[in-house]
Amino acid sequence: MYDLVIIGAGPAGISMAAEARRSGISEDKIIILEKSEEHSYSIRKFYPDQKLVTANYKGQAALCKGVMCLTDTSKQETLSLLDQAIESYKINVHYKETVYKIQKQTDGTFVIGSDKGEYASKTCVIAIGMMGKPNKPDWSIPSELRSDVVFDITSQKIENCEVLVIGGGDSASEYAQYLNQEGNKVTFSYRKNEFSRMNEINRDSLLELSKRGDVPLLLGSNVTGVEPGTTKTVKVNFQEDEFGSKEYDKVVLALGGTTPKNFLALLNIDFNGDDPIVKDGFETSIPGLFLIGDLSAGRKGGSIISAFNSSHDAMKKICDSYLTCEL
Ligand SMILES: Cc1cc2nc3c(=O)[nH]c(=O)nc-3n(C[C@H](O)[C@H](O)[C@H](O)COP(=O)(O)OP(=O)(O)OC[C@H]3O[C@@H](n4cnc5c(N)ncnc54)[C@H](O)[C@@H]3O)c2cc1C
Repeated sequence: MYDLVIIGAGPAGISMAAEARRSGISEDKIIILEKSEEHSYSIRKFYPDQKLVTANYKGQAALCKGVMCLTDTSKQETLSLLDQAIESYKINVHYKETVYKIQKQTDGTFVIGSDKGEYASKTCVIAIGMMGKPNKPDWSIPSELRSDVVFDITSQKIENCEVLVIGGGDSASEYAQYLNQEGNKVTFSYRKNEFSRMNEINRDSLLELSKRGDVPLLLGSNVTGVEPGTTKTVKVNFQEDEFGSKEYDKVVLALGGTTPKNFLALLNIDFNGDDPIVKDGFETSIPGLFLIGDLSAGRKGGSIISAFNSSHDAMKKICDSYLTCEL
């Protein structure tokens, strides 16, 4: 019987285990189950290598409540910080283990089922992030264009290309800045006329690139589909006559992530529309079951520090209500 089983080893899951260790729970009573081969899959997959990792991402206050904190830094340093936490707090992580079931027993404990086995625990924290499945466009991508119409910029090196970045959030802006910096000819398409989802830095950087003529902005542009091009790989069709059709070597879709809905739907927790309801300390409607990190950040999205802080709040609630520990 574990005290705490955590699902997902990203910033939220790792800081959750660190908070638990700090609160006095012994290392053999905590386990993290992570489906990838390494921790922090989203950071590894979606952050460009040269990215500046900002502490106040999405305009969130860079104020840390708990044992883990972050200052503006690099992707590699961020991963090292998380490596160090795993090492110094002696956190047990089982890699390549995907959780598919969590059941509350009549005695109040949980049974957590993965593709490798079952675990019993007094409390359970879900920290699987939002990036498991990036949002898909409402048009389909022809199979021959699958390697040219992509959802991230780390799976392949994009260089000397004409690229269309589609999106309106921070990731879209960062992809455009990075691809431009790498010498690509970048165009940016957003369906609305103004940016409201980006933080100030990302919005200003993108507007500056546009002003300099480096990254043309197609504002109010709606893509209706893509097909193989004649002069370049991908022909992009826009709904608006003023944009018509244009051809690019690569198209990058940065449409945000979705709540891993299927996973949450199986838990029988309460929802408010599409969003899971979390109460004080990020507890769900099932006592002892918590959702932290991006998963509970709502529409505004999360950040690394907000993930760290959600762990601290959840651990406080766990110590107050379920386990013998103190924060
Ligand atoms: C392009 C981009 C740029 C960003 N830049 C910044 C920035 O500069 N600063 C900042 O603070 N934030 C930034 N963010 C946001 C930040 O990365 C997230 O807020 C943070 O990673 C959330 O942490 P998390 O632990 O909740 O989720 P994640 O980091 O997504 O981690 C979830 C983990 O759970 C695992 N998992 C998923 N499903 C299962 C399952 N069923 N079983 C077991 N394991 C599972 C995943 O493999 C993953 O390792 C950025 C995000 C993106 C996409």
